[in-house]
Amino acid sequence: MPDRINMIGVSFDAKSSFLNGPAKGPSAIREVLFSGASNLFSETGVDLDSVNGFKKVIDLKIENSDAGYLQIEGEAEKQLSDGAIPIFLGGDHSITYPLVKAVAKSMKPTTIVHFDAHPDLYYEFEDDRFSHACPFARIMEDSLTDRLIQIGIRTTNDHQRQQAKKFGIELYELPEMPTDLDLGNNDKVYISLDLDVFDPAFVPGISHHEPGGLSVRDVIGIIHSINAPIVGADVVELNPQRDLNGMTAAVAAKMVKEIAGKMMIA
Ligand code: MN
Ligand code: MN
Repeated sequence: MPDRINMIGVSFDAKSSFLNGPAKGPSAIREVLFSGASNLFSETGVDLDSVNGFKKVIDLKIENSDAGYLQIEGEAEKQLSDGAIPIFLGGDHSITYPLVKAVAKSMKPTTIVHFDAHPDLYYEFEDDRFSHACPFARIMEDSLTDRLIQIGIRTTNDHQRQQAKKFGIELYELPEMPTDLDLGNNDKVYISLDLDVFDPAFVPGISHHEPGGLSVRDVIGIIHSINAPIVGADVVELNPQRDLNGMTAAVAAKMVKEIAGKMMIA
């Protein structure tokens, strides 16, 4: 069981391909989490109110620009030195590559469980190898994990299918869903949750609406089924500028609670 969980804001959306907005994600998620609209009990039974670090506001000191992207790994590393397990609040999905690099220096994840409508496996997107459409290609090239499981995918093209094959990725394309992630106690899991994995009915506040997605309950069920220690997580791609009545921020906050609760008991 971890001694503390640090929630770390990554206000960055300079690598978004379509719309900006996710840089405002961290503050929107915190606002819902700590609004008093709900308590801080996770469904796992863990009261996050009593978890060290959980309520501390930490933001990476980075610029929201191409140059700022290069600061993410080093700034994240500084926040991991106290042995806390991190939950990063994005931000667009490009941040996952430098964040996993930072986490892997002290605790390499053996498995990454990646929820997304998109596989984010482009070798390059719009002349940028670090676009939010590319992070998992970089992660696999660098062997930052042994195993990548992608769930909720529904936009794969030929190029990304080839990439998935090349890297031996476990690509679950809807309607196919894993029934058992088959993890063991020796595994160390990193969860990367792109909010567009959900059906847009649940998450209007994202940049890429991709109909036919998962329900909140589907994703909670999979997270709760993880039976191995979780060494880090990110929740990315909240775009508050498109949100309706804070609905999407509420889903993001709920996912943070369930991931954090699982971190404390897995
Ligand atoms: Mn993504
Ligand atoms: Mn996506």
